[in-house]
Amino acid sequence: MHQPHAEPRPSIYYRYQVFDAWLPSQHPKQQRHTVVIAGAGPIGLVAALELARHGVKSVVLESERQVCEGSRAMVFTRRSMEILQQVGVADRVTATGLPWRFGNSFYRGQRVFRMEAPHDPDDRFFPMINLQQQFLEEYLVEAAQASALIELRWGNRVNAVEQGERTARVEVDTPDGPYTLETDWLVAADGARSAIRTLMGLKLEGASYEGRFVIADIRIDLPLPTERLAFFDPDWNPGNTILMHREPHGIWRVDYQLPANETPEQALAPESMKARIDAQLAMIGHAGVPWEMDWSSVYSARTLTLPDYQQGRVLFTGDAAHLLPIFGVRGANTGFQDAQALAWRLALVVRGVSPEPLLASYSTERVAAAREIIDEAGKSTRFMTPPTRGFRLLRDAVLSLSLSQPFVGPLYHWRTSRPHEYSHSALNSPGDDNALFKAGPSHGAPPQNVRLNADDHLLDHLDHGFALLYVTDAPAMPEDLMAVVNSCRAQGLPLRVLAITGQQPGAVQAVTGADDTLADASGQLRQRYGLHSAGSAYLLRPDQHVCARWMTLDATRLRAALNQAAGLNARATTQGACT
Ligand SMILES: Cc1cc2nc3c(=O)[nH]c(=O)nc-3n(C[C@H](O)[C@H](O)[C@H](O)COP(=O)(O)OP(=O)(O)OC[C@H]3O[C@@H](n4cnc5c(N)ncnc54)[C@H](O)[C@@H]3O)c2cc1C
Repeated sequence: MHQPHAEPRPSIYYRYQVFDAWLPSQHPKQQRHTVVIAGAGPIGLVAALELARHGVKSVVLESERQVCEGSRAMVFTRRSMEILQQVGVADRVTATGLPWRFGNSFYRGQRVFRMEAPHDPDDRFFPMINLQQQFLEEYLVEAAQASALIELRWGNRVNAVEQGERTARVEVDTPDGPYTLETDWLVAADGARSAIRTLMGLKLEGASYEGRFVIADIRIDLPLPTERLAFFDPDWNPGNTILMHREPHGIWRVDYQLPANETPEQALAPESMKARIDAQLAMIGHAGVPWEMDWSSVYSARTLTLPDYQQGRVLFTGDAAHLLPIFGVRGANTGFQDAQALAWRLALVVRGVSPEPLLASYSTERVAAAREIIDEAGKSTRFMTPPTRGFRLLRDAVLSLSLSQPFVGPLYHWRTSRPHEYSHSALNSPGDDNALFKAGPSHGAPPQNVRLNADDHLLDHLDHGFALLYVTDAPAMPEDLMAVVNSCRAQGLPLRVLAITGQQPGAVQAVTGADDTLADASGQLRQRYGLHSAGSAYLLRPDQHVCARWMTLDATRLRAALNQAAGLNARATTQGACT
């Protein structure tokens, strides 16, 4: 019988809530479900919230009865915030988090590189924001609890999975004993040690690195700005690396690398941690400032992925699908993109709008994303914890050169998590004008936000469906385009039409047929997107990535692009496709 911890986890700054376990004895009648999600970590919860936006119900099984232990992920990227905006929690993250965009690398007491993450006046969110994962999970849990389409079952651990041809049977253990549920689709979001991955005998591919880090969250009052600090080869920890990040609620994250011969038990001994953290504080000129430990753990980097995220009726996402190093803040930030990429396709499939092969493109796109991220993360990791003598020699040469040669500084750049571009996706439209554009996001790229007004941005106007951005100076959308739009909608495809006009904000005449009319009097939106004439357009997928763009849009090309992106071209007849 599964007995999750019933005592709140210890923390000096976060009050854990222990939720009531969901007990099968109180719900004797089990029905068959459409989507079951294993794991209420950040990725399982975002997947559930995204599905709910598409009107799809899910049951979320969570083995624990409270949110995660320790702060874990605490740097979230702009793209993650744009995704979190869609599921309704970005405002809460902004209200509590600490935004930042500078990083500093030090060697021998000298700052050798200052990283500046680009921040465009058109962006709504900062490049990075620091917030402890517990808070983010709390916001996501509350959003899930507020949805009538999400059933969150605390204290429910997946113990076994069996697949039929069109179903998965999931055995779940609870404090009340086991029960079985049947589902059309099982989303495995059960984290790095995914029981589902193990039960199905699946192997991750990639590398594991030997360098180990202690991760410690301490409460301390340091008069320093929110900027990332990296110290290479300091006197108190020769040859190794130390990182420091400011977190909300008076907490600092200190990560320091361990000498190769030290065990995790030795490293986590309180006297060892005290000596090292005191040494680090002394090195940065804050010796003797009182501090208090909140949470600590030992971490080593891995760059691993499953080669395929779809195994029959089971779809892997987040850490269950891949393990990425924390250098470059890639784990959760990548997982949000997985969840978003998966949910819209799964929603179209379960609603009977798109055929099942659409799901294969989820795996193709996201495995390619993980491999690209692994490649980049491998470079950062080899710089932080050189795995061989050769890598160390190279790294040390960069370090010593950087003292006198500023051109070396950018080699410290950490290649922070960035969204993957699905440039070669099968969902991109082959017959559009992508190659002709001189500006704007291209095939497969995420959108570029544009400020339309003081507190009004392009991405605020998108919803859960496809979006057609169409430039017009006419009072109404063209009838032939609207005929395609309406035919797609009749097939169940969510599609929002945004007319882009040169009108002044505040005096907007709505364009008939459009769901929204954007006033782009300054021309900033059209310029950033390379949209130079009436009739030019972009089509964004439900995950906001570009799948088509045209210098001049006509009904035939719009129809073709929508059928391509929704996987409707796979149908043998035009029945069920947009016409
Ligand atoms: C020290 C540290 C620092 C990090 N820093 C960052 C960062 O700054 N930025 C970043 O993007 N990422 C960071 N990460 C990575 C990030 O924490 C993970 O990528 C993220 O938590 C993955 O989310 P997930 O939902 O996939 O998995 P998890 O967060 O692991 O959630 C999985 C959930 O599934 C539940 N579960 C497990 N087994 C079962 C089962 N059998 N049945 C039902 N439920 C189950 C678990 O209890 C858990 O709630 C960091 C990680 C660590 C350890």
